[in-house]
Amino acid sequence: MTEPIADTLRRIQERIANAAIAAGRDPKDIVLVAVSKTKPAEAVAEAIAAGQRVFGENRVQEAVAKFSALRGQHRLSLHLIGGLQTNKAREAVRIADAIETLDRPKLADAIEAAIAKEGRTPTLLIEVNTGSEPQKSGIARDDADGFIDECKDRFGSALTGLMCVPPAGQDPRPHFTWLADRAVRHGLATVSMGMSGDFEAAIACGATWVRVGSAIFGSR
Ligand SMILES: *Cc1c(COP(=O)(O)O)cnc(C)c1O
Repeated sequence: MTEPIADTLRRIQERIANAAIAAGRDPKDIVLVAVSKTKPAEAVAEAIAAGQRVFGENRVQEAVAKFSALRGQHRLSLHLIGGLQTNKAREAVRIADAIETLDRPKLADAIEAAIAKEGRTPTLLIEVNTGSEPQKSGIARDDADGFIDECKDRFGSALTGLMCVPPAGQDPRPHFTWLADRAVRHGLATVSMGMSGDFEAAIACGATWVRVGSAIFGSR
């Protein structure tokens, strides 16, 4: 019943390319982050065998457990895309190639300290709570400009972009457009937005990274 991951991946890559072309963009400018949270290492290995190299995980512990062995064998890029506690910042900096969820000054402090201790600097994205949802992580819209400026000063070129997860059940496009516009205004090249249900709309609005989980690995 379940489709081989190589097939679902190929289909998603085709849809990404088609969405890019329809938007007058180069498909090469869009990176597929395969979100493997809750899925076993075997599923990740299948995706790697099919050529996928960029993965997203929500939790630091799960990422460590799943990717330690696989990363010894392949050049992978591991993105942390879940809300990050300050007490996990050090391990996050140690293992992540990108942290997409920098969203508050206290976390910026913790990441800055961790970078100094670990001597390695992941790529950093600021997550914005574009829908102002109280239960969600992300810096508030109104605080975004100030926080982006502050993080640019602190992290320099390691800060490359913005990320958002629009409210479920709403048209995501106003959120996507707002985020892409904010990135342009701040001279940030990376715009991480769009998931299984809306990555094509995100590409039309300017996404450069799309984070797709269930459409590749099956429902969770
Ligand atoms: C789980 C998750 C995704 C992937 O969601 P799907 O709907 O399975 O594609 C993307 N981004 C974040 C932040 C997530 O937590």
